Amino acid sequence: MYHKNSGLIITIDGPAGAGKSTVARIIAQTLGYSYINTGDLYRYVTFCALKENLNVKKSEVMNALSKNIVDQFTKKHQHKQNLELFFEQNNIITDKIHSPDIDKNVSFVARHESVRRNLIPLQRLLAENRPIVMEGRDIGSVILPNADLKFFLMADEKTRTIRRYKELLKKGYHVNLQEVKSEIIKRDNLDSKREFSPLTIPKDAIIVDTSDKNINDVIKMVLRVVQGRENKYIENI
Ligand code: C5P
Repeated sequence: MYHKNSGLIITIDGPAGAGKSTVARIIAQTLGYSYINTGDLYRYVTFCALKENLNVKKSEVMNALSKNIVDQFTKKHQHKQNLELFFEQNNIITDKIHSPDIDKNVSFVARHESVRRNLIPLQRLLAENRPIVMEGRDIGSVILPNADLKFFLMADEKTRTIRRYKELLKKGYHVNLQEVKSEIIKRDNLDSKREFSPLTIPKDAIIVDTSDKNINDVIKMVLRVVQGRENKYIENI
């Protein structure tokens, strides 16, 4: 999967609050790679569904909506841009899709087989012909199974709850810790027990437990592995 003179395909999967976004974003910035947060795609579909008062549990309704959204992305080659730019162009501020309301509904949208199938080609297009760090739940297992390096980030429930709680407070949401804890447990359950591409540890992934670690130390550790892999490739050509 290595793109000569360019870089690697790196996947980062894991549950909510494991530190994926912070790590993936900084790794991509440091290496000059593209960065794609696939959770934002599911969040965007959910945002549109709620805006149009659609029932997120209805498979056929979510199938039509997600198909429509994928068409919008792929039209005018918008998939070649990054997702944040697409959201901006469509007047979506990414904070809007990271609200507690979206948190509550997104896993119901993401468990439909039709929605997942509709989003697969788009995610692969976004990763095509460029070095990339792509994060999500099924990236190393389903979307990019031949990636050069796969990481699975995890952390205990308490750590993940506190991280998510602080994040929401910082964004100005009035939430309580217990509510955030139950939402994380519910989302973990839905994501890991769904029938189609559930959250799993890819067999060739490097597992990183971030519970007792400072996020900067996690970033340094992941970067060391990535740079080691890049150097190995260069030595062999
Ligand atoms: O990563 P984030 O927590 O923003 O993802 C939101 C939700 O999107 C997840 O809880 C999951 O239901 C869904 N998701 C998914 N597959 C991915 C990325 C996200 O099912 N690759």
